[in-house]
Parts: sequence; structure tokens; C-alpha cells
Amino acid sequence: MPTDTAPRVYLETLGCRLNEAELEGWARDFRRRGCRITAGDEPADLLVVNTCAVTAEAVRKSRKLLRRLKRAHPGARLVVSGCAASLADTDLGAGEIDLVVDNADKDRLVAIAADALALVPARPPDADADAAEALFARGRQRAFIKVQDGCRYQCTFCITTIARGDERSRPPAEIIHEINAVAAAGVQEIVLTGVQLGGYGRGAASPATPDLAGLLAAVLRETDVPRIRLGSVEPWDLPEAFWQRFTNPRLMPHLHLPLQSGADTLLRRMARRCRTDAYAQLVAQARAAIADFQVSTDVIVGFPGETEAEWQQTMAFVAATGFSHLHIFPYSPRAGTRAAAMPDQVPEPIKRERARALHDLGAALKTTALRTQAGRTLPVLIEGQNRDEIGAYAAGFTPGYLPVRLRQAPADSVGRIVPARLLGCSDDAQALEARLDDGTGGAMHRAPGHHTRAAQ
Ligand code: SF4
Repeated sequence: MPTDTAPRVYLETLGCRLNEAELEGWARDFRRRGCRITAGDEPADLLVVNTCAVTAEAVRKSRKLLRRLKRAHPGARLVVSGCAASLADTDLGAGEIDLVVDNADKDRLVAIAADALALVPARPPDADADAAEALFARGRQRAFIKVQDGCRYQCTFCITTIARGDERSRPPAEIIHEINAVAAAGVQEIVLTGVQLGGYGRGAASPATPDLAGLLAAVLRETDVPRIRLGSVEPWDLPEAFWQRFTNPRLMPHLHLPLQSGADTLLRRMARRCRTDAYAQLVAQARAAIADFQVSTDVIVGFPGETEAEWQQTMAFVAATGFSHLHIFPYSPRAGTRAAAMPDQVPEPIKRERARALHDLGAALKTTALRTQAGRTLPVLIEGQNRDEIGAYAAGFTPGYLPVRLRQAPADSVGRIVPARLLGCSDDAQALEARLDDGTGGAMHRAPGHHTRAAQ
């Protein structure tokens, strides 16, 4: 347990969910060594930052974050890892940094910091008794569990494949141990995370390591965490038995499947492995196999050479597929990628106009997805308290990862799964308004193949 004199560690990440998963792992390791995890406004002795380099803008933000943290904590030591810290062409202002941990070594970051900086206790890690405290201290309820790193593909816009290196998969036993530790500490939902989750099993130390479907079977069998989600999954490489796993109601019926473009000509220039036909088939297969399945996606706007006709194909494909949420990325050239050197970069005003149109479409599609849920009662994991013009609400997500604003929820509902009666869309049409199901609104809804859980 940390004492009053325990080193105070502040951790912050930019970028993807994998960065978040790594940060959570470091927080747990620091705790096991007796350190205290602090919130941003508390004094800290050690700052740890997981940087991002996915775009030039992400590198700029990483640099800015380091400067801001050093200004706020002038006496603290600074440890930096992540893609921006691992790429040779990135200048993060080395004078301010005490220790850089390359992506290749980041799973051992805490031990490396203990060796290099006297303030981190070098004693071996304690038991997992408080595995989730660091998570809760950072105001989080969902635990990201890293299962895989690296990617073998070379999408022409992507620096990740260079920054994160070859594919590596963690052994299932290690993953299951970590999930059981956070579940025993009260975590209700975990998210399995990787760069290329469909490639899980490749680059593993043991040839007996299963594929992603096998890993999911083991996690479902050997843990009892109530809700399991998957981080972003590229829409290819998914093993045959993958969809069958969703018949277990603990595996939440939602996937984030990056599309990037709805024009095959553009997908070819991006060197993506999935064309629109295959993508549409995959979504149709999932929707046929899994009740109430929701899909969200990423779209890049203004990729080099994107014509008006290609853009219209993307808009039409997105509208026809129907997504519960869109992440929209206006393209920005990233030095070191093939796309950065492509001709016909799209002018910024056109990118802005296309991003705005796609944003409007995404909002309309989300409203459509939300409306299908009105009148039902679903189990919602409450992740925090918030406030809007109507008043206070508890914020959470349905199994399909649709946002819910639960009014008049008890203060102790954060971190619990509660039955929520979904009344309809919020005024801004971007979330579901809900009340706790008091038992008079009908029985808990049971979608085929999915059971529901009451508060626990
Ligand atoms: S599949 Fe493509 S976009 Fe995804 S990590 Fe690999 S190279 Fe990057």
C-alpha cells in the first residue's frame, strides 16, 4: 500500500486505446511498487506520458502536453514513451525529458524507470490486491487490457506499423490473470485492445497460442468479468469462429470496424485489405448472427487525390451501411508514410467542407440507431456523473455502446450495471434519455441470444 511519503506518479496518454491500455498497465505496476497515482491538479514527483504520432497534429499535441506538464510540475522527473518518442524523426524537446522508453520496451517501462530513476522503488511487485485502484483514481470504470501489439500491414497513411514494429501477442494466461485481478477489484467491463486484434496469435512466444476466437473462448471460460468488449478491429483476418463467441451475452454486441473510405479506388491507394463489398458482407454477417449488433467506424476525409466522385461514394456507402458512431479524421500528411508523398493533396477548405457533411450524416445515423432502442430496458454500466441543461445525470453505455443519460440515479451507481428504461433520444439527439427501471415498466428486455444483468 502507498504511504504518505510514497512517490506521487501522474500518468497521461494521447492517442489510441492501446496507449490507454498501456498506461493502465503502468499505473497498476507503479501501485504495486508502492507509488501513489495522482490526479492532474495534485503535486507529482514523476510524470509519465504515452505520446502519439498518428498525425503531425498528434506530435504537436504530444510536445505541447510535455511542456504543459513540466510547467505545472517543475520539480518532477519526466518519463516519455509512445509512438512520438519512438520515431527517429520526432523532436519532443529532449532537454526536458529524463527518460525515453522506446515502444519496443514499453511493457517493462516501470521496471526501466525503477532502474534509471532512484525515486521509483525497486522492490519486486506486490500482489494484485488493488489492481483497479489506479484505474478508479483516474476516474475510469472500464479497464483496457493490451493483448497484442504491432502490425504486418502497410496502409499508406499509417505510421503505426513503423512506430510499433512487428506483431507480438501476449500469452492467454497472462491476459486472463490481468482480467481476473481487475474483476476481483470491482471492474465490471474490460476492453481487449491491440493494434491489429484480428492478428492475435501471431508473433506469440508459444506456437500453441490461439487465434482471437480462441482467446475470446478462454477469456469467457476462465474469467467472470460481466462485460467484455473489443477495441478497434480491422475488417479482415477475423477467424472463422469469431462471430460464434457473441452468443455469450458477456461479449458485448458492438464492434469498431475502421472503413476509412467508401470508394474502392481510394481503398486501393490506401493499401487497405478490405474493399467495400467485403466490408458490407462482414457487417451483414455480424448483424445476422448477433442480436442488436452495433457498428461504429473511422473515415479519413480528404485522402490524397480524393475526387468528388470518390467522396460521394463514401457518403453513400456510410449512409447505406448505417453506423452508430463515426470517427472522422481530416487527412493530414505524416512524414515517413507513403501517402505523404502522394500527388494531389486535397485543399484544406474542401477537407473541411467534406468533414462537416460527414459529421452531419454521422449525427443523423446515430439518432437513427438510438431511436431503435427507445422503450426497452437494457443493462447500462454507469461510468460517471455529468450535468446538462436539464440537470444532473449518470452517464453510461448500453451493451451496443450507445450513450445513455440516466436521470435520478443513486449517487452510488457509478461503476455498477443497472437496468435502464430507455425513454427516447436526448434533446441533442446524441444520447438516450433513461430512468432506472423500477419494475413497473415491464420485464427486463431480453434480446435473443443476450441475457441482461440487474444491478450488482
Ligand atoms: S492495418 Fe493498416 S491502419 Fe491498421 S495498424 Fe496496420 S497499417 Fe495501420
